Amino acid sequence: MIDGPVVIVGAGQAGALLSIYLARQGHDVQMYESRPDLRRTDIDAGRSINLALATRGIVPLIDVGVIEHVDAITIPMRGRMVHVDGDPTPDLQPYGSQPHEVIHSVSRTDLNAILLDAAEATGKVNIEFDAPVSSINFDTSSIVFDDDRTEPFGLVFGADGAGSRVRKSMAQHGASEFVTDWLDHDYKELTLPPNADGSHRIDPNALHIWPKGEFMLIALANPEGDFTVTLFAPKATFEELSFPEAVRTFFETEFADFTALVPDLVEQFEENPTGSLGTLRATGWHLDDRAVIVGDAAHAIVPFHGQGMNAALESVRALDRHMRDSPDDLALAFANYEAERKPDADAIADMALGNYLEMRSGVVDPDYLAKRELALELEQRHPDHLRPRYNMVMFSTMPYAEAQQRAAAQADIIASSIADPGVDVDSLVLALPALPDPDPLDDPNALSIR
Ligand SMILES: Cc1cc2nc3c(=O)[nH]c(=O)nc-3n(C[C@H](O)[C@H](O)[C@H](O)COP(=O)(O)OP(=O)(O)OC[C@H]3O[C@@H](n4cnc5c(N)ncnc54)[C@H](O)[C@@H]3O)c2cc1C
Repeated sequence: MIDGPVVIVGAGQAGALLSIYLARQGHDVQMYESRPDLRRTDIDAGRSINLALATRGIVPLIDVGVIEHVDAITIPMRGRMVHVDGDPTPDLQPYGSQPHEVIHSVSRTDLNAILLDAAEATGKVNIEFDAPVSSINFDTSSIVFDDDRTEPFGLVFGADGAGSRVRKSMAQHGASEFVTDWLDHDYKELTLPPNADGSHRIDPNALHIWPKGEFMLIALANPEGDFTVTLFAPKATFEELSFPEAVRTFFETEFADFTALVPDLVEQFEENPTGSLGTLRATGWHLDDRAVIVGDAAHAIVPFHGQGMNAALESVRALDRHMRDSPDDLALAFANYEAERKPDADAIADMALGNYLEMRSGVVDPDYLAKRELALELEQRHPDHLRPRYNMVMFSTMPYAEAQQRAAAQADIIASSIADPGVDVDSLVLALPALPDPDPLDDPNALSIR
């Protein structure tokens, strides 16, 4: 029995999706969001910021019935287009061997807007924008806002991102512990503008990477013809780029082909903020049956596997399932949700950190490429027993922890086969446990592959 209003703090991807699931369970939901309504205000200062959407994010969107709207705003990316100095024809490294094994570029704002519209369409979700929550008072069962206003709650969900106030209040109450491991690399988003006729200047159906060993540039297309481009680099590199001439020289030296396409590159670099990157590891995701955290609030990760939002949406779906399994004992439901998702959150956090090295240097390393080619070849020969790690993470809903364990076993087999071509690699692969069946909701045709 929930004694008071059901409240979600944070109307980002996780909070908006959660509100739809809760409405479907029959709850009336009150959401508080610190920012203005992104459907009516340009909160990204005119820039399009996009994300890679993959199976773990797609499945919950199918589940809540918004996938057709999402399909209209996505751009499929078939593989990594790797830009190497002096090579005018960059290489496409396909993500998978199946046509549907593509990831999808989607605008963060537009996806959020679709989820907010669907939430309001339930008739059971009320969203208050411009309502920054400062803390949760568990003694008085009240939400405390920055302006000292208070509102009551019976059950509060913290979907308020990596800096979650709900989580901090739970920690002050002794329920949660958390630590953030900051990376010594930062990021900055830039825009690669369209051609004069509105078309894309480079192939929109690929995730572009300019790997540079210690740093890298990536670009994902937007439907308007532009690309969201992100520079990931050590903090020391950003510190060196503190005046216009240094920025110009850096880009002209390291990313000459890209620089030629962006006339206002230096201005953008100076104007746009630099962001930091960290891994948040939390334990104690719930406080009895009164509070629970989800999405980045519980497991923020570095973005190098393109999985933070996908993991957040997958966690929301798991939370819904556990609540429906134990509707009369929500403390148990929340404990089961954490028991299921915490090992997966830890696994994807580690794999995301590992993928940074793969993206900024592995994609041009002959040893890495030979292993990747062998993995894809073995997948063709034994599709029931082996899938490359990237594909298990991006194109399945297999628990992340299982994907990580399988990937480690597969990596050992592949390394031994490359070291000694006489090894009976097929027998070793066939000795691996069979891969699990796909999720019943996982529809390979859910999003168009244009
Ligand atoms: C550079 C970069 C690239 C990324 N690329 C990808 C990608 O390609 N694919 C992918 O899957 N993930 C990606 N991610 C990760 C992804 O952005 C996050 O994992 C995802 O947005 C988490 O969703 P969320 O709803 O949990 O949190 P958020 O999106 O952070 O939403 C939290 C919401 O709560 C609100 N809020 C915060 N504090 C308060 C408060 N005190 N009171 C009220 N409201 C509050 C915020 O305004 C926000 O609307 C990337 C992240 C970064 C930094």
